[in-house]
Order: sequence, then C-alpha cells, then structure tokens
Amino acid sequence: MKENLNSITIFLEKEVGLFAGINKIEELKRLLYELYLIHNWSLDDIKKNPDIKKFFKKNLQGNKKFLELKKILLELRYPVASKSEPHFSAYLPPLNLPEKNLNPLLNKDFVPEKIFIQNSIKNLPLTLSVLKKFPKVHQIHFDKIKDIPKDKTKFLTDMGKRDIYLIDESFDIIKPCPCTKKAVSCNYFILNLGFGCPYDCSYCYLQHYMNITGILLPMNLDSFFKQASSILDQNKFNFFRIGTGEFFDSLALDSIVNYSSHLIEFFRTKKMLFEFKTKSNNIENLLKIKDVPKNIVISWSLNPQKIIDTEERYTASLKERLEAAQTLIAKGYKVGFHFDPIIYYAEWKEDYEEVLNLLFEYTKGKISWISVGSLRFYRKLKSIVEHRFPEDSYFYGEFILDPQDNKMRYPNLIRKHIYTNMLAFIKKHSSKIPVYLCMESAEMYKEIYGTIKTTQEIEKEFK
Ligand code: SF4
Repeated sequence: MKENLNSITIFLEKEVGLFAGINKIEELKRLLYELYLIHNWSLDDIKKNPDIKKFFKKNLQGNKKFLELKKILLELRYPVASKSEPHFSAYLPPLNLPEKNLNPLLNKDFVPEKIFIQNSIKNLPLTLSVLKKFPKVHQIHFDKIKDIPKDKTKFLTDMGKRDIYLIDESFDIIKPCPCTKKAVSCNYFILNLGFGCPYDCSYCYLQHYMNITGILLPMNLDSFFKQASSILDQNKFNFFRIGTGEFFDSLALDSIVNYSSHLIEFFRTKKMLFEFKTKSNNIENLLKIKDVPKNIVISWSLNPQKIIDTEERYTASLKERLEAAQTLIAKGYKVGFHFDPIIYYAEWKEDYEEVLNLLFEYTKGKISWISVGSLRFYRKLKSIVEHRFPEDSYFYGEFILDPQDNKMRYPNLIRKHIYTNMLAFIKKHSSKIPVYLCMESAEMYKEIYGTIKTTQEIEKEFK
C-alpha cells in the first residue's frame, strides 16, 4: 500500500511534472490510489489509457495541467456520475492510511470487558440479573455519565463495542427517526431502550454518531415504560410505527437484558405497531411469549452472505436470519425485511435476487413489509472505514455528494437501477407486500412508482 503511494507521488512529480499546491496533489493521489484499488490499475495501465496519452502530448502547464489531469481521472473513477450528474461533486480527502488494521477482534458471543453501573440503578432486579451473568467482569460505579473520564485515544479502536453501561434512562425516551432532509418520511419513531451495538458493520453510522465508548443499557424499566406510556398516550405525533432498532440492534443483547418480553407486554394493548429490527437470530425470549400480539413485527436487515461476511461482522448469517424468521412466523409473529443498505457491485443483481428467492422460500411470502435503501453515509465515515477496515472495497463505489443532506450516495441513475430491479424481483413473488424506499426523495419515488408517495400513503399501506 505504502509503496504504491510512493510511486504515485514520484509519478506526479517526475513524469507529469506537476508543481501544484499540496491539496491539489492530494486530490490526484487519491484518484490514482482509488483507481488502483477498484480496478487494480497500475501506473503503467494508467499511462496506457488513450486520454492520458493525449494529455501527455498536449504538454499543458500550471493549473491547466492539473485541471485536465483531474478531469480525466474523475471520468475514469466516476464513469456513471461524470456523465449523468450535471453538478457532481467527488469527495477527495487527503490519504491518511493507517499502518495496520485498527479493527479490534471481538467475540461473537458477547462478553463485556468492563461494566459501568450507575449508582441509582445498582440494586434494581435487571441490574442484578445482568451482573450475575458476568461475575468475573470488572465493575465500575458512577453517578453521572458525564463524570466518567473518556479515553479518546481508545475511541477509534474500540468504537464502544467492549464495555456496557447499565444506566438510569430518563431523557429522549421516544424520538422521531432521524430521516434525511427532503426524503419522504415513513413516520417512524424510536424508543430509546438501548444505544450502541456489539456488532461491527463497516457502514454503521454509530461509528461517528456515538460519543461514549460503550453500549448504554437502561435498567430502570418501570420508570422508563411509565414515561413512554405518558408520551404515547398524549399521542401528539400520531405514532403508528415505533421500534428500538435505529441506535441499537433490537435483539443482539436480548439474552442479557431480555427487553423483548417487557416490550411485548407493554405494546400488547397499544394501538400501534412495534418493530424489533435485528441482524441476529437471538429469538429464544420471543419464543417464550404466550399469545403473540398482532401488533409486534420482527424484522431483519438482509444482504447477500458475501456482504455479511465482509461488512457485517459478528452478526448472524443470512441462513440463520431466515431460519429465525421462519420459526417466528410459525409461532405467530409478523415479520418484515430491510434491504438496507443495498451495496452496488458487479454481481449485485444476481446476488440480491438470490437473497429474495431464499426469502420467499423461507417465509412463503408471509411478510408485513420490505424496505429498500442504498448505501449512503456522511463523508467522515469514509476515513473511519479507511482506518478500521482498510481492506474494504465497497466504500470505493461511485459515491457522490448529495447537496440536499450532505451524504454520499450512488448517482441517481445507479439508485434508480437498483430500486427498479429490486421491485421487479419482489413483484415476481408477490405484488401485495408493501415495499417502501428508505431515505429517498419524492422525485425518486416518482421515478420508481410513477407517483409521489406521501408519508400518509406509506403509513396506510402498513395499516
Ligand atoms: S447491526 Fe446496526 S447498529 Fe449494529 S453495528 Fe450493524 S449497523 Fe450498527
């Protein structure tokens, strides 16, 4: 990797003869480096490219030389976006690659390294039951989270995956799902029972969203549900779908905290849908529930197994997720599925169609909803991924900056191609299941469905 960067620098200085500012040089270095990663193109391959050959013949000088080379490299690096997006903007930060992979090795069977315990909940039954499961783990007591010293140097390596915080949660009990500007909202609400995750997905936004190096687990369930009840009963926001899976995998730690049984009893009498969203197959507690309520939906995020292997570390395999869904359908649960994030690569179509075939084979089409969304992320995630997962290639796709919400997305043309195909694959099996797009604009809805869906229309389909 390093040798490559050195030869890129020598190429730009000696062969191109470019004497531009450091930022400009860094942009070109990134483009050449990413072309090498994506296509395995050496500098000799680049030099054989007809446009590069013409560039050398022109013998341009100064800024013109820089602009011309950048234009050619951008067209090679972003072949779809450079032709189809009139104002496309590439993200070309300086290369700052780590000496080694910083990704910590975690255990699939989660055992915390340390347990932080808030004093106000230390004697509650749930706290005692969690502590009983890990008698040998070091315990640290505290009064307020803000008093715990933060080891910032550890943050990037640990990412809050090793420690748990047993806390007294009394803020932000319910909040709206952080949709994205100008996207058609599906009016989803988040119940803040748990924050953080023991899994380690490369695309997880929690990597830059979390500011605490541990998984927060509320222990004060009585007061938590009392507060939730008073918010839901006021029903200021016309709650209809609510879940715990946005800042937390709803079932990943269920064998430790057994939130599921409390949530099911709490929502049993509410006139709304409650969704457990997961990438796990921890369904033991769900199987113990007698008389499964009709308003509980267990949903899985799905991807081809090769994406699970490289991007969704420590999660259940595709087969394990589908088997869990099949078992829960037999038990009387409703199930849903999220193809989100869909990752675009050469064989994506065949791979995702195969997942859909398997999905319908396992569920026999008894599916409450399917959502589809494509990989998107804030720019800062790219450098985190480069540091934590340097072997990851999917973040070198054709991502361009979407000025509407400052997220990196595939160009419209690619996203439209993904959604059109996914909807057609689903339709081959069933045209009755509600399918919605995740974090997409009204224009994209119109392109895909021929009409702009409103939030109310999407919600009506769930009802
Ligand atoms: S399962 Fe969800 S919350 Fe957990 S690491 Fe993956 S994306 Fe993040």
